Amino acid sequence: MNVSKRLLPLGLAAAVAASVAAVPLLVHGAPEKGPTAMVAAAEPDAVEAGLKVLKAGGSAVDAAVAVQAVLGLEEPQSSGLGGGSFMTFYDAKTHKVTAYNGREKAPAGATPELFYGPDGKPMPKGQAIVGGRSAGVPGAIAMLYLAQSQHGKLPWSSLFNDAEHLAADGFHVPARMAASAASNAPQAKQPDAIAYFTKPDGTKVQTGDVMKNPAYADTLRKIAAQGPKAILEGPIAAEIVAKLHQGPYPSAMTLQDLASYKPKATEAVCRPYREYTVCTPPAPSGGPAVLEGLGILQRTDIDKHPNDAQGWYLFSQASRLMYADRDRYYGDPDFVDVPMEGLLAPDYLDKRAKLILADKAGPPPAPGNPKGAGVRAPDRTQEPGGTTHLVIVDKDGNAVSMTTTVESIFGDGKMVGGFFLNNQLTDFSFQPKDQDGAPAANAPAGGKRPRSSMAPAIVLDKQGRFVAGAGSPGGPSIIAFNLKVLVGLLDWKLPPQEAVALPNLIAFDTLYASEPAKFPPGVVAALAAKGVAVRGGGFGEGSGEQAIKATPNGLLGGADPRREGVARGY
Ligand code: GLU
Repeated sequence: MNVSKRLLPLGLAAAVAASVAAVPLLVHGAPEKGPTAMVAAAEPDAVEAGLKVLKAGGSAVDAAVAVQAVLGLEEPQSSGLGGGSFMTFYDAKTHKVTAYNGREKAPAGATPELFYGPDGKPMPKGQAIVGGRSAGVPGAIAMLYLAQSQHGKLPWSSLFNDAEHLAADGFHVPARMAASAASNAPQAKQPDAIAYFTKPDGTKVQTGDVMKNPAYADTLRKIAAQGPKAILEGPIAAEIVAKLHQGPYPSAMTLQDLASYKPKATEAVCRPYREYTVCTPPAPSGGPAVLEGLGILQRTDIDKHPNDAQGWYLFSQASRLMYADRDRYYGDPDFVDVPMEGLLAPDYLDKRAKLILADKAGPPPAPGNPKGAGVRAPDRTQEPGGTTHLVIVDKDGNAVSMTTTVESIFGDGKMVGGFFLNNQLTDFSFQPKDQDGAPAANAPAGGKRPRSSMAPAIVLDKQGRFVAGAGSPGGPSIIAFNLKVLVGLLDWKLPPQEAVALPNLIAFDTLYASEPAKFPPGVVAALAAKGVAVRGGGFGEGSGEQAIKATPNGLLGGADPRREGVARGY
């Protein structure tokens, strides 16, 4: 079932919700007997592969493996075997939420000057993104393998059938993949990408063409048999190293860097939000920044302003404060002290929330001074878009919220074994220090993971029961996209499809990037009168939000209408 067909108009849903806002989990537009298991992801074939695994008795994590394997084939511009990921997992039996970290790691030989050019200055991003040194050790498959060993029910080797079959026998080229292949992105112009996307007649693949990728099928067979070793050791690893050592900006990656990669499983970071608890992975994910945004908003009455000008005003001002802190303080906690506890402390959030002026937006807020904060250089990280989000709930109530990425479109444009290699290390700050020598929290270093905006969220109620899972791709805008979906679900009580369809608004420094045509009448003008002049033009539109919410009548799903995803359950 495609739940996107079962919607109430936004205004109506909000009005109904407002009258019963005190009842948790009551969602409007819920089907009489709704699905109890569901997959929401960016490509329909990936969703079907996930559903098949769930119907065969697989867990949410089993299904995530199958979904990732198909996404790597049909949405290679966004994620794949050569990329990294963060995943938040809810265990319905124990009510525990675990954060899995499959973030790419810099090779041991990387230095703070990783992205300096021959002139001794940070190189332009456009040059860095296709260079060998932009790639980190891929972690997505190793992370899934770890999670599946802990929470899987089916054999690992059985989870790749759909993806392997699609790669070997052919799949229909999705419109976004075709558009990315034909785009001006430098990665699409790399020799491997050109060879992969060019048909025998010399033209580029078109939407709907049947395409095969036998090398990918072969790699999947190896991963099915050997796990992540199939790509982190042996011939594929050797090919990765050789590829990354090619000029013009060769990597220091070694076989040892690949073979020694270890994903992590830790407790998620969970914070109360009104009557709920919201959980995300810790840094270097963007999760704690979203939790700070929520913490600030909890000190406002945004819940009384569903989709109106005051609601969006509060949203924009909280976002600016959230971004100012996240850009200054977050990095890989294995390498830098991240003052997360200080940033999420109630007294600090009180102070931050008081900076929201009642009448009109002030100048851009500076980063705050939370407990535990060191002296940090201003951030010079630049993140372009190219990532995907999926949410899965199985029939036992376990849930996965996973954001997975090759960084920018087609990663660095280099292919090995039928998949693209990531360029995730460009998520580091190219400028490792400021003029006075203060280090940037997100400066490159050997073995370090670059800061991410990815923030896969899981929401629980007071009893520790699953309420919702949500997240999005979108580079630095992810944090704003996720904050919006959570406000839509939890404050404005919208069904997921309406929450993801809400206008995007990224408020950062002096920027208010948005989708002006999507606001209800009068909101744009009222926001402008409060000093929030929202602007359209691409940046605000790059979301791919996916969400699933539990209701007394079953699960409701939402897939971002800006991309090709669907939410289907049974
Ligand atoms: N690499 C980015 C991150 O980890 C995500 C890029 C994107 O969403 O396109 O934050």
